[in-house]
Amino acid sequence: MSRRWSRDPGTLSAAFASRPVRTTMDVQAQRPPLLELNTTLIKSSSRLPLSGSRLKRGPDQMEDALEPAKKRTRGVGAVAKVDTFRPRGPLSTVSQTQGHTAAPKGPKKTGPRGCSAVGTVLRNQKPAPTAPAQKPGTSAAPVVVGKKPGKRPAWDLKGQLCDLNEELKRYREKTQTLDRENQGLREQLRELEECLGTKERRLQELQEEQLQLQEERSTLSTQLEERERKLQASEAALSSSQAEVLCLQEKAAAQATLLAEQGDRLYGLQMERRRLHNQLQELKGNIRVFCRVRPVLAGESTPSPGFLVFPPGPAGPSDPPTRLSVSRSDDRRSTLTGAPAPTTRHDFCFDRVFPPGSKQEEVFEEISMLVQSALDGYPVCIFAYGQTGSGKTFTMEGGPRGNPQLEGLIPRAMRHLFSVAQEMGGQGWTYSFVASYVEIYNETVRDLLATGTRKGQGGECEIRRAGPGSEELTVTNARYVPVSCEKEVEALLHLAHQNRAVARTAQNERSSRSHSVFQLQISGEHAARGLHCGAPLNLVDLAGSERLDPGLALGPGERDRLRETQAINSSLSTLGLVIMALSNKESHVPYRNSKLTYLLQNSLGGSAKMLMFVNISPLEENVSESLNSLRFASKVNQCVIGTAQANKK
Ligand code: ADP
Ligand code: MG
Repeated sequence: MSRRWSRDPGTLSAAFASRPVRTTMDVQAQRPPLLELNTTLIKSSSRLPLSGSRLKRGPDQMEDALEPAKKRTRGVGAVAKVDTFRPRGPLSTVSQTQGHTAAPKGPKKTGPRGCSAVGTVLRNQKPAPTAPAQKPGTSAAPVVVGKKPGKRPAWDLKGQLCDLNEELKRYREKTQTLDRENQGLREQLRELEECLGTKERRLQELQEEQLQLQEERSTLSTQLEERERKLQASEAALSSSQAEVLCLQEKAAAQATLLAEQGDRLYGLQMERRRLHNQLQELKGNIRVFCRVRPVLAGESTPSPGFLVFPPGPAGPSDPPTRLSVSRSDDRRSTLTGAPAPTTRHDFCFDRVFPPGSKQEEVFEEISMLVQSALDGYPVCIFAYGQTGSGKTFTMEGGPRGNPQLEGLIPRAMRHLFSVAQEMGGQGWTYSFVASYVEIYNETVRDLLATGTRKGQGGECEIRRAGPGSEELTVTNARYVPVSCEKEVEALLHLAHQNRAVARTAQNERSSRSHSVFQLQISGEHAARGLHCGAPLNLVDLAGSERLDPGLALGPGERDRLRETQAINSSLSTLGLVIMALSNKESHVPYRNSKLTYLLQNSLGGSAKMLMFVNISPLEENVSESLNSLRFASKVNQCVIGTAQANKK
């Protein structure tokens, strides 16, 4: 049977519902009439020789009665549909069965109409040709002409019965086949119903899903609308912001133009400031001398009143003093005459005089202008000159550590320098600083910043030109340390102090007989205007200026001391001679006569600014050395070195 089913389960069900499915029970229900016929025939065959009223109906009648059986035999294998059964006695039952099996495929005819159609077919059927006679009593099959089975003679009731039994058997088999088919179809129906159920559930799920999706879609569309509204608002805000930005950009451009103009103006003003500043420095003199008298220390004898006098400045007591008078009593004359010792007054005038009570801060204020000059590109040299114990180191480096008020010129100058450099950074200047610190003792140079194995000893150093044709001088074997803050400088000063202390134990009071030179190489750059400037700032703590008392007898150990002193005096006098040669504009300046002047030659020329502190002891017993120092300083003070020029490129 074809298993091609419609995909529509509903149609399938309907087809099955309309299809006449006959069960064994149904067939059984039809069976009794057939059996009844069988029985009747058997009964009749027992009376075969007798001609009964039924048999008298003639062979044609019998054939008619048996015709459906023959048709049934021919139609085996075809399934006929009969919707209703209407038994009308044994024979009509047969013809119905015949109709049931051999009904042609075609439009379904239901009810009595279908039956009558079958009946009509039966009535119209012509009788088959009569088969040859057969021996009575045989049950062999009738002679077959062609494919058709032969027609049994009317008397062969047994044969007919046999045929009928055969036919019955086939019907039973057919019924069984149909039962099986029916069973299979029922299973298929069940499967299809299950499948349908699954599909229905799936459909329901899909419908639910669809509902959910619809809800989601509506939520999303609401959100989308909301977002679109926000986007529109943002776009509006953006366009207004863009307009604002444009406006601000225009303003910024205008401001930038203004700023550039202001910058040019500021630069002009700075240049003017620099020019005026240096003009002022020149008016004050490129060589200036300050005198500083240290206070009487604890345990020292107080000098007699009037020994040192500080007359007020020309503008009155508030005017800073510039003069100093030293009264010296002539002891020899008083001894000879016996009269009170006459005193001789020695007056000195300097750019500034600092009496014993002057603070470190006051002293620095006066020289801070020179630091500005160094940043502007002018070489600067600051010296401390005086006998040992007059306060040179106190002035340059300061008093005991930890007291900021006692800080000397070097730390103060560095702090000022770094802060001014930072301020000038705002005006486009970038500065870098490199520090070195050397000691010149007995015409030998030693690095005070030496570390590690060289610490305290500081290998032999030589002063050399930085390169062939270079004006710049450098000390070989000495450390040149880049510094950018006062703390770094402080560390270097501390290291130098330690190095000096080590040397002091090795050689007696060496520090007082050596020059200490702290050099800071300043380099400035104004990238925007392509300007460069560079100059050294030198802070020099000179060796003690005292001379050996010629009256003293020289022991064996004193000879070295004499040589040292001569070297010191030689270098200090060379310094004086160099200054004077510069002042007198002599063609030959004896820089090379001492290591000190050779090292400082670039800071002592016509373009340099120089400041000399002459440190004086307040004690009467030091009067001779004080007068020597004051005389030396006065000579320097009288010098005027040509117009200073900044080292600008
Ligand atoms: P120098 O370096 O000239 O040999 P110092 O600077 O070592 O002299 O000074 C000698 C002593 O005098 C030190 O104890 C120092 O502290 C002290 N001293 C020098 N100048 C002053 C001053 N202005 N105020 C206070 N003490 C001072
Ligand atoms: Mg000293």
